[in-house]
Amino acid sequence: MSSLFILIVTFLVLAVIYGPVAELIMDLFQVGGIYKGDDLARDITLTFDDGPSPLYTLQLLDLLDRHQARAIFFVVGKQAEKYPELISAIHERGHLLGIHTYRHGNAWFQTPLGLYRDLVRTKRLLEEITHTPATLFRPPWGRLTLGSLAMAHYLGLVPVLWTFAAKDWRTGDGRTQEIVKNIGARLHNGAIILMHDNGGAQNAPANTLKALEILLPRIHEIGFSCNVEPVLYALNVSASRPTRLPRLMQRLILPIWIQWERLFDRIYGVYPLSRMFRLSVTPWRFGARRAELPPNSSLPNSETPRILASEYVAATSSERARTSESDSRPDREADRAVVNPRDPMAELHFQNQALLQLLALDSPEKIAIRILKEVRNSLHHVALALVYDDRFRSAKGIFGMTLMHRGIEKLGFHAEEIEQNALNRWIGLLLVWLMILYHPQGYKRLKTGLGEMRPKLVWMTREELLTRYFKGVQPEALSTLMEQAQKARI
Ligand SMILES: [Zn+2]
Repeated sequence: MSSLFILIVTFLVLAVIYGPVAELIMDLFQVGGIYKGDDLARDITLTFDDGPSPLYTLQLLDLLDRHQARAIFFVVGKQAEKYPELISAIHERGHLLGIHTYRHGNAWFQTPLGLYRDLVRTKRLLEEITHTPATLFRPPWGRLTLGSLAMAHYLGLVPVLWTFAAKDWRTGDGRTQEIVKNIGARLHNGAIILMHDNGGAQNAPANTLKALEILLPRIHEIGFSCNVEPVLYALNVSASRPTRLPRLMQRLILPIWIQWERLFDRIYGVYPLSRMFRLSVTPWRFGARRAELPPNSSLPNSETPRILASEYVAATSSERARTSESDSRPDREADRAVVNPRDPMAELHFQNQALLQLLALDSPEKIAIRILKEVRNSLHHVALALVYDDRFRSAKGIFGMTLMHRGIEKLGFHAEEIEQNALNRWIGLLLVWLMILYHPQGYKRLKTGLGEMRPKLVWMTREELLTRYFKGVQPEALSTLMEQAQKARI
């Protein structure tokens, strides 16, 4: 009796380790499959599951064509068998095809042999139609087991999961808005987005199409490309593993640190949106800052912008003193301040992987020049975000705290000493620690080449950023994605 009990418990424990626990570990550490692409590249992969659909797939292909978007379709074998012409159409129009099993089975409840047969059958089907090897595999519902991993590996298939889901399988009022919101709120470099062109609630893919009609032009305006690069990048990275890190400390600590950073970004809504920067919106906590130089004013040439800035502030306040007799509104000063306490500001965080690459260059001069050049390019992308990306459009400016502030005024930033309170000292230590962790040699070079390593606050107003880095005409009265989605319902 008790031995039967032990047998059952043992079986259940093993089953849980085999399925849910294995999946949890893979999801948590993003190992064993592809979850995202390159954080540094402005590419996004749209993926469509459960198709092909005789109702929606062709419409979707036309929509993608109109917006020069290239996607991945994870098709169900049973559907592919019914509609081979749709599989051909997907393939011929330049998209990639992946395997979503034959019957959309749940791997937790499948034997490895059952799954093996299912995968082989679907793989053969796709390869017969397209004459191209099928190597991408998306497990239905993301269900993974030790067995499904082993089978995929044995068949030369790479599991492709996703960075976030559009949650487009439900139905009901306002679904289009929900999809637009789910995607618009989490767009970032290298994202792999889960969507559906078949299945789910009745007519659910119609909402997906409507949402994409709104999202694709905006994604393009923000400066992202919709292509399959993120997945191809991840395939190459996993093929070239293990990456050799030069020092033991880095090899041990860096992977843990990268997990921590990912968690931090998740909690604080920080997204990689340009090659050099991750971006978040933070309330300004450094006190009011006034307008700097009036545009196109002629300046004495030998002065630094910092000194001029304080002169300008002095000038405006004496002007205020002169006019205060006729106009004594108490909020005059606040009106003039460009950035006020608690104003939303876009906070810039360096992309450490990009820094790692730059710090590997062989001379401090080269490092400094390249960093300035890359930052300049990235500021153009930041400007696009402040104009087109609903998450950042309210930002009154940008700021960051950095050790690498030498020469940054040339890019239009104002650099200030940071008040040495406990929080700021802690941030300073953290920045130095990051440099040492990511690239000790680079840190040493930078230190000897660029002098003192004290973090500074650097900031720029919205107007200054857009004047310098936004090319073209700013759109007047651009509606938000949600407003567009609401209009689309009517
Ligand atoms: Zn599915």
